[in-house]
Amino acid sequence: MTTRVNTVVVGGGQAGLSVSHYLTIHAVEHVVLEQADLPGDAWRSHRWDSFTLNTPRWQSRVPGARYGADDPDGFMPKQEIVAHLEALASRLPVRTRTRVASITPDQRGDYVVKIDGGETISARNVVMATGLYQTPKIPRLARDFPAGMLRLHSDAYRNPQQLLPGAVLVVGSAQSGAQIAEELYESGRKVYLATGRAGRTPRRYRGKDANWWFAKMGQYDRTIGELPSPQAKFAGKPHISGTKGGHTINLHQFARDGVTLLGRLEDVQDGIVKLRGDLYDNLAAADQAEAELVKAIDAYVARTRIAAPEETLPVLRDGFDQEILTELDLDAAGITNVIWATGYCFDFSMVKLPVTDGDGFPIQTRGVTRFPGLFFVGLPWLHTAKSGLIYGLREDARHVADRVAERADVRDSETRTAAPQLALLEPKRSRATRWADRVLTLIWSSALSLALDGFATYATEICPTAPHDRAHQANSAIAPTDPTPSQG
Ligand SMILES: Cc1cc2nc3c(=O)[nH]c(=O)nc-3n(C[C@H](O)[C@H](O)[C@H](O)COP(=O)(O)OP(=O)(O)OC[C@H]3O[C@@H](n4cnc5c(N)ncnc54)[C@H](O)[C@@H]3O)c2cc1C
Repeated sequence: MTTRVNTVVVGGGQAGLSVSHYLTIHAVEHVVLEQADLPGDAWRSHRWDSFTLNTPRWQSRVPGARYGADDPDGFMPKQEIVAHLEALASRLPVRTRTRVASITPDQRGDYVVKIDGGETISARNVVMATGLYQTPKIPRLARDFPAGMLRLHSDAYRNPQQLLPGAVLVVGSAQSGAQIAEELYESGRKVYLATGRAGRTPRRYRGKDANWWFAKMGQYDRTIGELPSPQAKFAGKPHISGTKGGHTINLHQFARDGVTLLGRLEDVQDGIVKLRGDLYDNLAAADQAEAELVKAIDAYVARTRIAAPEETLPVLRDGFDQEILTELDLDAAGITNVIWATGYCFDFSMVKLPVTDGDGFPIQTRGVTRFPGLFFVGLPWLHTAKSGLIYGLREDARHVADRVAERADVRDSETRTAAPQLALLEPKRSRATRWADRVLTLIWSSALSLALDGFATYATEICPTAPHDRAHQANSAIAPTDPTPSQG
């Protein structure tokens, strides 16, 4: 059976729902196809129980979602963002339990969207909103760990009670690995943490949240062309947390609290893990990221004379007192659990067009591809540093929806319906907001943003995705020689 619809949005996460919200305002006939039982599944089913957004609430408002009076500087537990997405989806044309298998161009310049089970939909436009965090990335060497051990990806980790009694090896020290390691050792587990090069962002500095400073300094508006390399968009996110009201995560504190810090994982044979002796370099990289951020904020404060009380962050060195281990006997260490906090793989091969680059990332400009009617939204650095965050969705989703609406033709106009109730939900941009936008753009294009290049990949909340086998994630906790599969 083939049905026809103007626009198909693939994926009912925050990106797909945001595009749907703007398409509804434009009165473009469309449907959102989501493979999971409910929309917003990434937050509901792929994060651990205590997960709390790392971005403050003022940065975490999904376009079109209704927010009551809330605490803009606080941090949402995952249940809260899920509830917002469910409420938004209930007002939009979302079809769940519908997995798209392929998208193929047809003779008329439209797209044939094939759904698992055989149904097809013919669409003039397709908006891909399947995210970049699609499949847990698990290194091949995971198979060489003793069979009796519990082996989990962070995607499947829920809470400490889920694990076998005994110690835990957490592999990966970007945002997820550091947060999970912290939860585990605070629950009384002995934790071993294999580190990579992720940076540290202090949660607050000089009276403000780090993300407030990034926004103020125009860092979120940096465009992809300003990255040192295209692969930099896959860098791991820095140590920071939204739990307990938001706090800094510092690996030196972990060392002080009894966590055994390790260098990168290189191999495992007969229950012996081989480690790279780069622990101190990894700790130094995290320290340097924080130092550079502090320097940049100080320079910004001095230049703009903004009122911000001086502050000296605590300097911890405990990690440097730990012995560098190059081997770890799992049995002797009592390790019965391994958690892979090693990121995700992505795959856009369901689109049967040459639309991805050598890293498998969509080739597009602000979500618009060279294939008329084919769009992407919701990816890290799709357009700017904030594109992969809820914070950046408003701009990106609206831009893509506007381009879709421009393609509406006479044939489609008959199917258009007015949607005044949704238009009312769209907040009006105040003159002050428009002024702030202009100022941010000025700051962004100033010499300051060039000076910040050194920590750009730490500073922004870009994502830890490792792109297939082709490019190795530079800050991974797995040595680059490991032949990592694209499917975890
Ligand atoms: C651990 C972690 C922490 C994060 N923390 C924050 C944070 O604090 N703040 C922030 O702003 N961002 C954060 N992010 C980044 C980002 O906001 C989230 O990853 C977000 O879920 C991305 O939204 P999305 O809609 O683009 O993709 P997703 O939420 O992944 O949604 C994609 C949807 O597409 C569906 N789908 C996929 N393939 C198909 C198919 N073939 N057919 C039909 N449906 C399909 C999936 O089921 C899914 O529901 C975090 C990311 C991770 C991994």
